[in-house]
Amino acid sequence: MASTQLLCSLPQPPQSTSVEEELQTRKQHLVAACRVFAQLGFVLGVAGHISVRDPEHLDCFWITPFGKHFSLIGTSDLIKVNHQGEILEGKQQVTLEMFNIHSGINEIRPDVIAVVHAHPVYGTSWSSLGRLLEPISQDACTFYEDHSLFTNYSGLISHRAEGQRLATALGDNKAVILQNHGLLTVGHSVDEAAWWLICMERCCQAQLLAETVGSPILIDPDVARLTRSQVGSPEAGWLCFQPYYEMLREQGMSNN
Ligand SMILES: [Zn+2]
Repeated sequence: MASTQLLCSLPQPPQSTSVEEELQTRKQHLVAACRVFAQLGFVLGVAGHISVRDPEHLDCFWITPFGKHFSLIGTSDLIKVNHQGEILEGKQQVTLEMFNIHSGINEIRPDVIAVVHAHPVYGTSWSSLGRLLEPISQDACTFYEDHSLFTNYSGLISHRAEGQRLATALGDNKAVILQNHGLLTVGHSVDEAAWWLICMERCCQAQLLAETVGSPILIDPDVARLTRSQVGSPEAGWLCFQPYYEMLREQGMSNN
């Protein structure tokens, strides 16, 4: 009988040995997420942004510059902003909406390291229905009882109170559907948050497709919760992004 080794424990994220190393890692993975989103077609004009919390100054985050295509963003383009709205590093632009969204969530969710927002086509289409995703597949169980709706679309999130309302709508979940707007996910790493966005977009596509031809059979609630614990953990989210990260490295991605 051929001898093969079964994978009994999943690979874990590497641990940094200093805050400097951790900051560089976070920036590199943020840039990687931007490149992946560009390749997956998640870029729409100037919409969408990704941030990661500073590992040393926890009231600060690094965010993508406004108006630069995700495929062109490098680590040197990222902008450091504090929760008072002051730009501490970086020369490019951050809009009020970007600040209100990311600071609102960072303040209310100290466990969150990364925040990802985009307007992908299926997620945006699904968002117009004002409905949560249902557990119609193993992938969809990732979000079972772990995502929410941000209702009453009121235009750009130009006021801090609206950013706080979005953070409250997100609650303790990993994702929130911004009704009539798009998707937003959070994670304990950029990799995790980026994967939730990729996965959620696919789940929106799948449910839209399934409902065009019939009534999807729902997974039993207890099984959906079990499956969420298996495919929806922070470790699983990080892991699912690694093939994309490896793909970029193979492509010789420069992230300076
Ligand atoms: Zn948006």
